[in-house]
Amino acid sequence: MTALPAIKDASYFDALDAASYLDSRYGEGTPQKVIDGALKYFGRRFALVSSFGSESAVLLHLAAEVSKDIPVLFLDTGKLFGETRRFRDELTDKLGLTDVRTIKPDENDLHTNDPKGNLWVSDTNKCCYFRKVVPLDSALQGFEGWASGRKRFQGGVRSLLPHFEASDGRVKVNPMAFWNKEDVTAYIEKHGLPRHPLVEQGFASIGCMPCTEPVSEGESDRAGRWKGQNKTECGIHLSLAENSRVLSGN
Ligand code: SF4
Repeated sequence: MTALPAIKDASYFDALDAASYLDSRYGEGTPQKVIDGALKYFGRRFALVSSFGSESAVLLHLAAEVSKDIPVLFLDTGKLFGETRRFRDELTDKLGLTDVRTIKPDENDLHTNDPKGNLWVSDTNKCCYFRKVVPLDSALQGFEGWASGRKRFQGGVRSLLPHFEASDGRVKVNPMAFWNKEDVTAYIEKHGLPRHPLVEQGFASIGCMPCTEPVSEGESDRAGRWKGQNKTECGIHLSLAENSRVLSGN
């Protein structure tokens, strides 16, 4: 299995200090203030990670209001819906984002660990590791802070999210942590933002094609992800130590 880069203790403590400072300064702010604060602190060492999924337009619009040049990392696992790639292009154009980077798994890694492209059938944790965790970790080299659109109302391990947290030597920024479903819907309507085309087919949270299903009324938004499995996160939001535990089955 490909080893992830070693973690340097010193940078870990720097990230803790940075997250603590940012939280004291901007932790009570609006999503725009949180993004603006992170950009002021990190400059070009700050990126957004977006799946260009069902609600991604909101965070991308919030960020574009602050800076259209912010690097946006988009993980193309090779298993996405074609609609997602087209939505990436549409949204990038509409918002005027100038630095959207498509990240892909390493071909050699896939050749060795998923030669038939069907690892997801037997082991979704390993598949996510090679197609998401490793490529993102590699793409984040050189960045000290990164933001995503996770929200507390999505439940599970997300229910206690702060605006700023330290993880694996970087600061993870969650500008929309405190927004509820109604806030998201109201923002989309207010700004006339496009929805991912699969939303109208009942997809509430959209990831890879083999592991995403529509949800029924009353189900949580993320109920259609890895349906029927004891898995709720792909791993990019887990620490490297947590990923190791998941992969070893402990
Ligand atoms: Fe593989 Fe499914 Fe994870 Fe995508 S979501 S990387 S297909 S296991």
